[in-house]
Amino acid sequence: MSKADIVEKSNGGQDNEESNQSNTNVTDSLQSKKENDQTNKSPTTASTTTTATTISTTATTTILSCNTEGDEAEKPMSKSQQKKRKRYEKLMAIKKRRKQQDKDAKIAKAKAEGRDLDAERKLQEERTKSGEGRRKREERWQERMKSADTCFKICVDCSFEDQMTPKEIGSLSNQVRYCYAANKSSHNPVHLSVSSLSGTTYDNLTKVCGFPDQWRAFTCSDKPLLELHSEKSNVVYLTSDSDYTLEHLDDTKTYVIGGIVDRNRLKGLTTTKAKELGITTARLPIDQYLHLCATKVLTCNHVFEILLKYRELDNDWKAALLDVLPARKDITGISK
Ligand code: SAH
Repeated sequence: MSKADIVEKSNGGQDNEESNQSNTNVTDSLQSKKENDQTNKSPTTASTTTTATTISTTATTTILSCNTEGDEAEKPMSKSQQKKRKRYEKLMAIKKRRKQQDKDAKIAKAKAEGRDLDAERKLQEERTKSGEGRRKREERWQERMKSADTCFKICVDCSFEDQMTPKEIGSLSNQVRYCYAANKSSHNPVHLSVSSLSGTTYDNLTKVCGFPDQWRAFTCSDKPLLELHSEKSNVVYLTSDSDYTLEHLDDTKTYVIGGIVDRNRLKGLTTTKAKELGITTARLPIDQYLHLCATKVLTCNHVFEILLKYRELDNDWKAALLDVLPARKDITGISK
């Protein structure tokens, strides 16, 4: 990825066509990387039909792997693979059923309100044809992005790949994807960057729709953190091990999330890194607002979403934490 170095994608109001033009160099270099990858594959791999799982930025369940149909025909699935497949299919069926239920409920609501759904559908089709729908979406995105330039930034530091297992790297890739999806749909998106992005994490992300040239408000690079954000005094490394608790978020700062999935195996990794780099650290004010029975070491995407929500919910930590943290963490709020 070194050719692309930095891919700035806060292009907001640009159409895909326009953005494709403005990112020609990046797209070219990525394209050539993809082509190189293809030619470097062994003949056997290249000759089998490879179906990379499509990962939509809105989907919640993803398998970041490639299936080679040839392999599947030869190798029977192990019992645990069969179990996993069954569980996955069950989940998909539930998801499909829920989607249909939501759709039915929306139709019922619209009918109860006396709306003419056929007319609305026709209007929608006309808007799609004329490009008005896209233009409106762009306008809304531009509007939401207005405050991003005067707001804090968030960076995910992916320099820890060599300390993670392939499975953990897969999870990290998904977490980066969730951060992007949360930012894109947020009322107040921020500038999101990813530093030291290379290796398998980068390869996994290239399978995601539109990455990186069509990802908005997004920058990624294989360069280290301080080359991307060189103003050291404005960088704060977030870590649950810090002695300092975040009281508020400062709009002049870049908050760094350690790109690590380690199931608590690699304690103190980010604190050590921040010390080495001479960067201040801070932890989320979880103890001040909640009783949490589970671990206070959160996933990258939860930390990201909490920062976004804090801003969206008028700088209210408690509301942001309650909104983002999953119920399984057995949370109770501390009354203040
Ligand atoms: N052992 C890892 C933990 C990884 S969790 C470490 O040494 O950091 C992924 C990242 O989310 C962390 O690196 C940190 O940046 C952020 N994070 C998780 N929980 C946090 C908390 N309670 N406060 C601040 N940041 C947190």
